[in-house]
Amino acid sequence: MILTLTVFIVDAVVNFGTHLAHIHSILLETCFDASLMAALLFPVLYIGVFKEMVSKNAELTASKARLAAAHDELELRIAERTKDLATANKTLEQSIATSDAHRAVAVQLADTVRLLQACHSSAEAYAIIAKKFQKLLPGVSGALYVFKSSRNILDRVIEWNAPEEFFSAFFRPDECWALRMGKIHKMSSSDISIRCLHFAADACSAICLPLVASGEVLGGLSFRLDRQAAQNGTETCLDNGETESQQELIYLSLMSESVGIAFANIRLREALHEHAIIDKLTGLFNRRFMDEVMDMEISQADRNKTPLAVVMLDVDHFKKFNDLHGHDAGDVVLSALGRCFVQHARKSDIVCRYGGEEILILLPNTDTADAVRWADAVREKVEGMTLNHHGQQLGPVTVSCGVASYPTNARNKRELIKAADEALYHSKAEGRNRVNAATGFEVIKFNGQAAAPELRKA
Ligand code: GH3
Ligand code: MG
Ligand code: MG
Repeated sequence: MILTLTVFIVDAVVNFGTHLAHIHSILLETCFDASLMAALLFPVLYIGVFKEMVSKNAELTASKARLAAAHDELELRIAERTKDLATANKTLEQSIATSDAHRAVAVQLADTVRLLQACHSSAEAYAIIAKKFQKLLPGVSGALYVFKSSRNILDRVIEWNAPEEFFSAFFRPDECWALRMGKIHKMSSSDISIRCLHFAADACSAICLPLVASGEVLGGLSFRLDRQAAQNGTETCLDNGETESQQELIYLSLMSESVGIAFANIRLREALHEHAIIDKLTGLFNRRFMDEVMDMEISQADRNKTPLAVVMLDVDHFKKFNDLHGHDAGDVVLSALGRCFVQHARKSDIVCRYGGEEILILLPNTDTADAVRWADAVREKVEGMTLNHHGQQLGPVTVSCGVASYPTNARNKRELIKAADEALYHSKAEGRNRVNAATGFEVIKFNGQAAAPELRKA
C-alpha cells in the first residue's frame, strides 16, 4: 500500500512539469481563443448592446433633467397658486367682513326708521337721531340743525359726542356748502377755502349733509371727524384729519336720507296735530283740545289729591273795540293777548282760546286763592299794554276774569267751567276789568288747610 502510494507520488512529481506545460499550452490556446472571440464579439456587442445602453443612459439623464425642470416649474406654480389663494382668501375674508358691516348698518337703518316713525314729536326724534349716529360712527361728534320756521336760520337742536361749544348754536343756510349744493360736503384740514363757515377755522376734518325729504331741505347734519377731539373735548386733529373711510361717507349719506324722510313725516304729523289743536290767530290751544285735556287734568287732580283751578277771561267791550279800530286791529289785540297769557303761564298751565274773545286757562295744582292772584296779575298786565297797528295807537284793552277750582267749586268739568263762567259774569256785572271767584259748593280741605272759596273780589 505504502509502496503503491509512494509510486503514485513519485509519478505525480515526475509528471508535474509535463502537466504544467500541458496546462500552460491549453491556457495559452484558450487565451488566444478568448481574445479572438472578444475581438470578434466587441463590435457586435458595441453596436448591439453598449450603444443602446449609452443612448438609453443619455435619454435617462435628459429625462431626469426635464423632470427636475418640470418639478421646479411645478413648485413655482404651486407657490404662485398658494399666494393667489392667500390673496383670494384675504379678499373673501374682507368681503365677508364688509358684508357683515353692511348688514349691521342696514339693520341699524331699518331700526332707526322704525323708531322715528313711532315718534310723536320732533324732540323725541332728535334724541333717537343722536343715539343712532353715535352707534353708526362711534366716537365721531355730530350735531343736528333744523330750519327755523322763518327759514333764514338753522338752529342746533341736538349734538352728540361733543361739548356744546363744539358746534355753533345756529347758522345761516348760505354758510353751509352742503345746504347750498344739496349734497354731502366733505372738508379736510387742508382745503380751507371750501370750508363751511359755521365751523371754526381751526376745526379739523368735517362733513356736512343736508337733511332732505321730497326735495325740501329740512335741516342739516354736521360731523367733526377728529375722533380723539370728540372724546376729550379738545381741538386736536388725528392724522391730518383724514380718519373717515369711503364706507363711512356712504353710511352717513344713507342714514341722513332715511332720517330726512322719517323726519319729514314727523313734522307733517306734528303740523297736522297742531292744526287740529292750535288756534291759528292766537297760537293758543283750541277748545277741542281743552275739552280733552281737562278730563285728564281732573283725573290727575283726583289721583294726586291736588286742586285744579280755571280762569275764564273775556275781553271787555270788544265789539266796540272792533267797531272803533277795525276787525284787523281786533285780531292784533287777540294775538298779543295770547302771547301775554302764555308768558305769564307756567309750563304745566294750559291756555286755550275758548271762543271769540274768551280765553280759558287751566292751572293745575293751584287753588282758588292762588288762581285769583294769578288772574289779577294778568288783568293788570293787559291794562298796561300798549298796542300799535299800522302806526295807530290802539285804545286801552281790559279783561274781566272769573275763577273757580276743582274740587272746591265743582264736582266735574262741566260744573267747573260753569262756576268760572258765573264768576266772570259777576266781574262783568260789577263794571268789568276785575276778577271774581266762584263761591258755591263745599269747602274741601287740602293738606289740612281750607281752600279759599270765600275770596270773591281781587
Ligand atoms: P263784553 O264786555 O260784555 O264782553 O262786551 P263785548 O263787546 O266784548 O262782547 P260781545 O259778546 O257783545 O262781542 C264780542 C265781540 O268779539 C264780537 C266779535 O266781533 C268779537 N270777536 C270775536 N272773535 C273775534 C276775532 O277773531 N277777531 C276779532 N277782531 N273780533 C272778534
Ligand atoms: Mg267780551
Ligand atoms: Mg265774550
